[in-house]
Order: sequence, then structure tokens, then C-alpha cells
Amino acid sequence: MAPDRSVDAVVVGAGFAGLYMLYRLRQLGLSAQVFETGTGVGGTWFWNRYPGARCDVESLQYSFSFSEELQQEWEWTERYPAQSEILRYLDHVADRFDLRRDISFDTRVTSAIYDDAAKVWRVETDGGTTITARFCIMATGALSAARQPDIRGLDSFAGKWFHTGRWPHETIDFTGQRVAVIGTGSSGIQTIPVVAKQAAHLTVFQRTPNFSIPAWNGKLDAAHQEAWKADYAAHRVSARDTRSGILYEYSQRAAFDVTAEEREAEFERRWARGGANFVHSFNDIFVDRAANDVAAEYVRQRIRALVTDPMVAARLSPTDHAIGTKRICVDTDYFQTYNRDNVTLVDVRATPIVEVTPSGIRTTEAEYALDSIIFATGYDAVTGALGRIDIRGRDGIALKEQWATGPRSYLGVAVAGFPNLFVITGPGSPSVLTNVVVAIEQHVAWTADCLAEIARRGAATIEATPDAQEQWVAHVNEVADRTLFPSTNSWYMGANIPGKSRVFLPYVGGFGNYSRICDEVVSDGYRGFRFE
Ligand code: NAP
Repeated sequence: MAPDRSVDAVVVGAGFAGLYMLYRLRQLGLSAQVFETGTGVGGTWFWNRYPGARCDVESLQYSFSFSEELQQEWEWTERYPAQSEILRYLDHVADRFDLRRDISFDTRVTSAIYDDAAKVWRVETDGGTTITARFCIMATGALSAARQPDIRGLDSFAGKWFHTGRWPHETIDFTGQRVAVIGTGSSGIQTIPVVAKQAAHLTVFQRTPNFSIPAWNGKLDAAHQEAWKADYAAHRVSARDTRSGILYEYSQRAAFDVTAEEREAEFERRWARGGANFVHSFNDIFVDRAANDVAAEYVRQRIRALVTDPMVAARLSPTDHAIGTKRICVDTDYFQTYNRDNVTLVDVRATPIVEVTPSGIRTTEAEYALDSIIFATGYDAVTGALGRIDIRGRDGIALKEQWATGPRSYLGVAVAGFPNLFVITGPGSPSVLTNVVVAIEQHVAWTADCLAEIARRGAATIEATPDAQEQWVAHVNEVADRTLFPSTNSWYMGANIPGKSRVFLPYVGGFGNYSRICDEVVSDGYRGFRFE
């Protein structure tokens, strides 16, 4: 079929990644079309409107650095930004840089097929549009493909049900209702305390308890914001040199280099400061089980002190995984919520959910009458959004088939056999282990520079070589195997999706190291890539 239109680049997604990619494409003088499923910009932050939704990276760091004017003019109001504030920020970015005119909203890309003869990507949408582009850039997000578990009987439920990652736009008021939350990851842990205050009764269906550190969120001190902004560029440079792209206090000490009292004092200090900084209390928490155990036990001790009923405290205490190997949660009054009279915790590992009935949820032990069910059951992470698009490279090979035994990429941004395809924060890059805005800016900038290089060389395409890709995949796995991460059934490992291969998805070698490798690849004449 003849395409409706032809552009230099198609970008899929208008979240942080798609917006900045569009900005950079325009700077290169390239024509671009962005497709976005939502009716507005924001990506993950457009959809995650559930009560309590908030980022657990601090506002001043979870923001774009590419424009000095932007970072100076935007005023953050809280230490950790609420979803609504991030969305306002992204709306501001879209307006300020006049980005909307190249974005088609309410449009899902269904396929992207490479035409080897014409050397273009043929992209189709659910609206029936076909567009061709030399470059296809996937800015589809690592945590955007919401996962709804297949529970028998959900269709028969007479009440309403929601997924945290696909929250409706109208205000949902749970006042007076009997509400269930299924899932106790970051989303569940944020929404449970807020819903508990509204609902007549809240029943939490927990399969695996999680480690969570208090956020101690609050209004952002104006003087602090001003001082930070006075030195913004320097803060950004320092952040980019860290392991996770966030200015945490990364300890240089091992847990057993200090006395038990010093260890305890360090955990106390970090707990009092709040946030994910806690898992960096010592530099061996992610690699040494004994070091990890002492940090984990400190949190369990805190849970026991916060939760009045010892049985409930025990149920809320994680014992099946090393702290940090599932994404650490950051909360406001999470554990204390279980002291409320209107909150019940059900352990669905002990008494699994059998079905949803018209009036509620039935486990192997009891039936719970409900008006609403909230699924906080997570995502088909990192590869899920790509898997929902029919992406085919040279010779019609499907990305999904090529990745059936685990994703294979070069630097997490390019895939052998898929010329001129770029994946922003793809598998095999630091992505979800970092401040994702920092990771996005680095990938987008790298991609933009690469497009400029293609033009300079007068090349038609760039493609990762199979050898470079295999070496990178081996390196990603080798680095992961030096840590405790693969010991845990987490979404980092694809373990939350039935049938998904068990591979550690992100690159754990550290953001600073990773971006140095990317720069070296460039200074080495795009080592591992082939221009045609
Ligand atoms: P998640 O971490 O994958 O948690 C999903 C929860 O649902 C888990 O407790 C899981 O239990 C449970 N679950 C899944 N299927 C179930 C079933 N059939 N029956 C019972 N329980 C089930 O998902 P998430 O909480 O949405 O968070 C995903 C990631 O998004 C986070 O790790 C974080 O990176 C990001 N996020 C960040 C923030 C923030 O910045 N504060 C907020 C929200 C999300 P199991 O553990 O047993 O599988």
C-alpha cells in the first residue's frame, strides 16, 4: 500500500523520551512524526493517575537538563513530585518547545516493518495511517505495558475495577466503598495508604511483601531550590557520573568494615533521611549476601516497630529476596496503614485467589465482598511495549521472535538486523536502574549524534553488527551475575510474566560507566556498527 506520508523519523511515544527526541530531531532539521496512544503527552505519567502516584526520585533531579532556561524557570513544589505535577511539567515542556504540532495523539502504532529495498521503515497505526520513515525511534517506555493478571471471573464482577497503570481521567472517589488492592509493589504501596483513608474498608491482597523506606515527602524549601538551581549544571554533571544517575550518598565502605553499632547508626541516619538512598548505605549491599542481610534485617525491625499486630508485621516482612533486588519502594505511611481498623491484609501466597465473583474476590479460604478492585499488578517491563508492536527488520524477521529467549541488543539502543531502529532505554541499557530521565537524555542525545553522523557520512543506514551485539549481551549478563539481582524472581528478570524468559533486563554496570562506553564506541568510529 502506498504510504500516506513520508518523514525522516517516526517516534513512537510522547513521554519524556519521545518529547526530547522530537526536540533533538528538529534541531537536526529532520522532519518527524510522533505517535502517542494517550490523548496527551506524558507517557507513563499520563496513565499513572492512581491515588498517591508520585515519583520516588526527587523533583530537582527527575527533570530535563537539556535546557538551562527550562530548568531555571520551572518551580517544583515538593521534595518528590506528584504525578499531577510531573504531568503539568511535561505539558509545559510540550508547549514551551511547541512540540504538539508533530504529535498524533490517540494513535497506537501497530506495526513497524523495514523495507530493505527502499531502506525505509513502514509504520502503521490503529487509525489506518501508513507512514514511511528512514529512522524509527522507539520511545515506548520501560514501564508502560500494564499487566492485568488473568483471574477467572473478572468479567462477571458487578463493581468497578482499575489498573494503576491505566487509571481513568475522571476522579474516582472510594468514599464509603469496600475496596481491594491486589499487589504490593511501588504502585500498591503508594496507593494503599491513600485509598485506606477514603474507603469504608480496604482489603490488601499481598503475594510477596516488599521492602519500603519512608519518603518523608514535604514542601520543597525555596532556599534549597534556589541554591540547587544556582549550581544546576554542575549537579547534573555529577549525577551523570554516578551509578544510578541520581545524586545519592554512595558509600565507599563495606558493611562489615564497620562495627555493628556504626552499621546501625548508618541505617538509622539513612532511614531518617528517607528514600532509596538507603540501599547505598554500604557499597556491597548488592553484591554480598551477608551485607544485604543486615540491611534487610534493619528494615524488618522497623516494620515490627511500626505495625502493632505482630502477625501482620511478620506477613509484611520480606524474607524471600535480597533487599534492592526487587525495586526498593518508597512510601508515605505504608506500614502504619495496617494499624487502621478498616484495613485487612490477606496473604494470597498462603490462600490464593481462586476467582472474582460478581460480588467480590474468593480465595481458597474466604470470600471478600467488594465494590471496587484496584490492580497494582505491574508491567511487562522493559520489553513489553515493544512486544505489543509488530516490529520486523531485515528479511521480515520479527523482533519478538528474535527476542524469544531474551532480548539481544547492542548497548540497549540498537539491534542487529534492524537498521536505523533506535530503542530509547531499551533492554541491555541502565534504564530502569537509574533516574530514567537521565538515562533518556543520554540515549536521545546519543541517537541524535548518531543521526548527524549518518548524514555526515552520507550513509543510508546504520546497524549493529551481530558480533558487537553478542559481546554486549555477554557483558550485560556477566555484570549482572556478579550481583545478587539474578537470585530474585523480579520484573527485572522478567519473572512476573508467565512464559517470559528469565534474563536480567537492564545493564547493571552503572550509568556513569555505561555512558563512557557509549562515548568510546563513538570516538572509536562507531565501533560495532556498520554504516551502509
Ligand atoms: P510491581 O513492582 O511489579 O508489583 C506488582 C505487584 O503485584 C507485586 O506485589 C506482585 O506480587 C503483585 N501481583 C502481580 N500479579 C499478581 C497476582 N496474580 N496475584 C496477586 N498479586 C499479584 O509493579 P508496580 O508496583 O506497578 O511497580 C512497577 C515499577 O514501576 C516499580 O518497581 C518502579 O520501578 C516503578 N514505579 C515507581 C514508582 C515511584 O517512583 N514511586 C511508583 C510506581 C511504580 P509478586 O511480587 O509476588 O509478583
